[in-house]
Order: sequence, then C-alpha cells, then structure tokens
Amino acid sequence: MKSNKKDFLKVKEYRSRLENAEGYGEVWEIVKATVKSSLNERRVGMMLFLDDLPLRLGAYHSLGTNNIVLNRALVNIVEAASKSKRLINSFVYTLLLHEYLHALGRPREAHVRALVYKISRECFGQNHITTQLAEIGPWSILKGIPLDAMDVPKRVIEIVKDFEKADKKYII
Ligand SMILES: [Zn+2]
Repeated sequence: MKSNKKDFLKVKEYRSRLENAEGYGEVWEIVKATVKSSLNERRVGMMLFLDDLPLRLGAYHSLGTNNIVLNRALVNIVEAASKSKRLINSFVYTLLLHEYLHALGRPREAHVRALVYKISRECFGQNHITTQLAEIGPWSILKGIPLDAMDVPKRVIEIVKDFEKADKKYII
C-alpha cells in the first residue's frame, strides 16, 4: 500500500512538472530527475543546441561529446500543430531522454527505446501521453502532416543558454 501511494505521488509530481515546464532547461531537469529515479544514473555538463535537421530526425548526440542537438524545425512543427503545452513538452522530453540515455553510454537503439518506455511508464504512468509517445514513437503525433513535402528553413545553429542552470551553482 505504502509503495503504491509513493508511486502515485511520484507520477503526480512528474506529470505536473512536465505540464508546467517552461523551456528546454526545465524539461531537461525532468529528464535528469526521472533517469535518476528509474536508473539511479546521472551525467552533468550536457549542452543543448538547436538546429534545423531533416524532419525524420528528432535529435542526435555525438559520441564523445557533451552535446545534444535537437531538431528545431521539427519542434516548431509540433508547436504549430498543437497548442497543448503538455504535448509539446512530452514530445521534447521523449527526444531529450532518448539522447541522454545514449550519452549515459548506451549506443544500441533498441535498448534506448525500451528504456525510454520503461522510464516514461514508471514516472508518468501507463496512460500518459509521454508513455504513449514512447510506445508508438514520437512521430505519431505528426500523423497526417506531410513531412516529406515540407520545406524546412535552414537557420543558424544556436546554443540554448542556461540549459544546465540548476547544476551551475555547484561548479563555481
Ligand atoms: Zn538513438
């Protein structure tokens, strides 16, 4: 009973944090907190870049770097297609969580996908949009949008400032 209550409160807290998160830095804090909670693993000092990539690619992490590059063009399309902050944040969470698991030393796609699902289910519950995105793939919310026919504007790559704000106070 006690453990169920604890799980229920954990799910409730993560759902509310994700729903109210403002910007990439706050979603990132939730990525790190949920990985810590599910796997007891942590890596600090990551940097996030935004770039306009082909729309079939969500994000990538280059092995041996601290960098995650998120597809800004794709996120912009999700933002235009949905006014739901919960859905947009869930989409970004799913992409960032995937790359964070690579950055934590898991190169295998199938392994990372299975973990994204496990962590989402544990932290947000089975019937949450984040768990659904993990199960059927984040592109499922773009069903019906002709991604292949879309012209993606190519803007300059930008770094997200204060991405790891919460960790900075420990560095000085
Ligand atoms: Zn991957």
